[in-house]
Amino acid sequence: MTRITLPDGSVREFAAPPTVHEVAASIGPGLAKAALAGRVNGTLVDTSHRIESDAQLAIVTDRDPDGLDVIRHSTAHLLAYAVKELFPDAQVTIGPVIDNGFYYDFSYKRPFTPEALGALEKKRGELAGKDEPVTREVWQRDDAVKFFESIGERYKAEIIASIPAGEPIGLYREGAFVDLCRGPHVPSTGRLKVFKLMKLAGAYWRGDSKNEMLQRIYGTAWARKEDQDAYLHMLEEAEKRDHRRLAKELDLFHTQDEAPGMVFWHPKGWTIWQQVEQYMRDVYRLSGYRDVKCPQILDRTLWEQSGHWENYKDHMFTTASENRDYAVKPMNCPGHIQVFKPDLRSNRDLPLRHGEFRSCHRNEPSGALHGIMRVRGFVQDDGHIFCTEDQILDECVKYTELLHAVYRDFGFTDILYKVATRPARRVGADELWDKAEHALMESLRRSGVAFTIAPGDGAFYGPKIEYTLKDALGRHWQCGTMQVDFNMPHRLGAEYVAEDNTRRHPVMLHRAIVGSLERFIGILIENHAGAFPAWLAPVQAVVASITEAQAPYARDVAQALKKQGFRVQCDLRNEKIAYKIREHSLQKVPYLLVVGEKERQAGQVAVRVRGGVDLGPMPVDAFSRRLAEDVAQRKS
Ligand code: ZN
Repeated sequence: MTRITLPDGSVREFAAPPTVHEVAASIGPGLAKAALAGRVNGTLVDTSHRIESDAQLAIVTDRDPDGLDVIRHSTAHLLAYAVKELFPDAQVTIGPVIDNGFYYDFSYKRPFTPEALGALEKKRGELAGKDEPVTREVWQRDDAVKFFESIGERYKAEIIASIPAGEPIGLYREGAFVDLCRGPHVPSTGRLKVFKLMKLAGAYWRGDSKNEMLQRIYGTAWARKEDQDAYLHMLEEAEKRDHRRLAKELDLFHTQDEAPGMVFWHPKGWTIWQQVEQYMRDVYRLSGYRDVKCPQILDRTLWEQSGHWENYKDHMFTTASENRDYAVKPMNCPGHIQVFKPDLRSNRDLPLRHGEFRSCHRNEPSGALHGIMRVRGFVQDDGHIFCTEDQILDECVKYTELLHAVYRDFGFTDILYKVATRPARRVGADELWDKAEHALMESLRRSGVAFTIAPGDGAFYGPKIEYTLKDALGRHWQCGTMQVDFNMPHRLGAEYVAEDNTRRHPVMLHRAIVGSLERFIGILIENHAGAFPAWLAPVQAVVASITEAQAPYARDVAQALKKQGFRVQCDLRNEKIAYKIREHSLQKVPYLLVVGEKERQAGQVAVRVRGGVDLGPMPVDAFSRRLAEDVAQRKS
């Protein structure tokens, strides 16, 4: 008798060990048809897998994220099958699943062309249409090596030869195609109908530039056509919103080769930057942080004490003077400890919160740099809280509240939370970890939000929470972080006098809400597609004259609004008003104030809202009240 426990806790008994497919069929024909794989005691297996002893089983369908991975992985195999059909001389290598799809690397003497991709897509569709079964076989290693060598698959033979002897080798067969794979795979190729080949790229075998350059074909695959359509639409939209493209169109910033990963901010981009910074500074001021400023360049000995010289040196820019080595700071924490240290603190001084908005530099590999999303020179809304172990919970609760308020003001309400817990290699007593992990999770519970746990993903010096926001296109960006640190205060000798008069090391909380301001502004640009809400817009209103006769009046209106703190420009050019309207709409300015002879005589402005709504003429005061309200309410 084999007892199978299903996710709802119900138990099914089978006289002989059943396959996953048989269990699904015993529940219902619909499920048997929908089953893509099974999860037996947590391990993913094929539907043909026989469950030899009592087990927990979940049937995986395309509603399950694992199911989608199985589809994508099987689609990669089917692509390789199609390649072998059309280009028999091509050699297959590996084809893993990636976000939203897969790739497969091939060795082939001629470069694949876009036409070849089209032909492959068609062939792949035909193979899916045949609905051939995908079956698993277990081979001996040396037999498998011989087999792949005999059919000219040098790379597969090499991969299999590197697997320890004695380990069973899983091969999957579909039609005429056989591939090495851990699996699982869909039961038959008919389940792989929704896919698209996306692009071609080069990739070195095993990622090593000394090896042969392979051809990588990227693809996407989905369970349902409408899901794929939505994904392709999102990509198209993301392309239109690319922050580098919008930066050029809206004249916000540029980067150039003489300063890789560093940003030349143009006046309009810098205005947005300053709005974000000023807003964050107010948030810090109102929530008990004190602004500090620490040196940009610090002696090597300090980085040795902090451990950065040993563990982070490749990411730091270094310099030397008068026979001393220095590093440009990659983060603010060691500096903030120096501000903590000179006075002997008592437990009554804690928590102590330091904030800093100053440049940090990290020597990111040039290949990883991306617009302002990934840079070498950046500013974080960086803060460090020095507190006792008992204060961690309270500080985390306050921080999460603050983060919610900030994200809401920037227009983000959908947030994901992840708690990363203790890794195997770590510092600090287990009781301390218990306390800190509990504090992080409890703080999220008190905020009433659901969170996931990433076991073992914490840093060696403490656990952390990662806060990820979702943008208008449904893309995820991890921005906020709250990281507990038991290590650095100890390493750098920060102490306080506890109630019992003993000296202790404070706990250090590293926290940032928006993270790198550069990256956050990149996210804002793409989220708003460059159409910033009035409180962030670099130019909030343009006063445009219809003829030269209204120029002095237009200037007066602009000056009056500027005096009230608004960011206003004049457009007095000798151009048709329709031309001016079009140009400023393309620049995504929130308000256009048209002044003709009628408006001048009445002391009014004719107000056009971005997007085309015409509010008609109104007194300048009425407009300024409206704009002030938009700004105060952070309305878009
Ligand atoms: Zn820090």
